[in-house]
Amino acid sequence: MMSDERVLTDTGKGPVGRGHSTAPRILVVEDEASLALLLSYNLEAEGYIVDREERGDTAELRLAEQIPDLVVLDWMLPGVSGLEICRRLRARDATRTLPIIMLTARGEESERVRGLSVGADDYVVKPFSVPELMARVRALLRRARPERIAARLQSGDIELDRETRRVHRAGRELHLGPTEFRLLEFLMEKPGRVFSRAQLLDAVWGLSAEIDERTVDVHVGRLRKAVSRVRERDPIRTVRGSGYSFDETFGRG
Ligand code: CA
Repeated sequence: MMSDERVLTDTGKGPVGRGHSTAPRILVVEDEASLALLLSYNLEAEGYIVDREERGDTAELRLAEQIPDLVVLDWMLPGVSGLEICRRLRARDATRTLPIIMLTARGEESERVRGLSVGADDYVVKPFSVPELMARVRALLRRARPERIAARLQSGDIELDRETRRVHRAGRELHLGPTEFRLLEFLMEKPGRVFSRAQLLDAVWGLSAEIDERTVDVHVGRLRKAVSRVRERDPIRTVRGSGYSFDETFGRG
């Protein structure tokens, strides 16, 4: 699969220094705690890795160190305003094209124009519907990284749809938990490549996860159970002493 190489070399503005990561990383900068929580809860449920900042100045420090795949940026923030952060991000080479969605309580047309004029890609007025914001996040990520956010992955009789978050095998729907879904998605993106448990933890659970590596085995076990019935071929290969991979010969019968 050629897409393999492309994914791995495309580290231009992905999760920094983590070319093998699948889940897009989203930074939510919002000082209203309940809204920040609601957003991160919903974004995580969609499989994204979410970081949160409550202040403009701390958000800038984080953005100087690590560039996410997308920023949801509140307009009015303590420290530095969202508008100013947006302007500064656009002035930096590394973040010139970083997707930014601005949030604001002010819905006047003039404010909207101001937000877009400093370079926000999209603009959402509070209160907004969460599904609508999720749709905009997806659309923006797809536009920014089409090769990583291709809507479907297919191998043999297994089809994974990122839009609907559904997986089918030979036409029947498989019921996967969110972690199993991400695990399968990650492995299917790079068939044949063997990943260590540490790499899988990093990619599927996120950098901050302090989880025992045996957790990976537990979830791979669940994934296998969900994907393969008796007598069906197991697409996941255990490589002793190394880790796991999606069998590259799987689609070939
Ligand atoms: Ca605010």
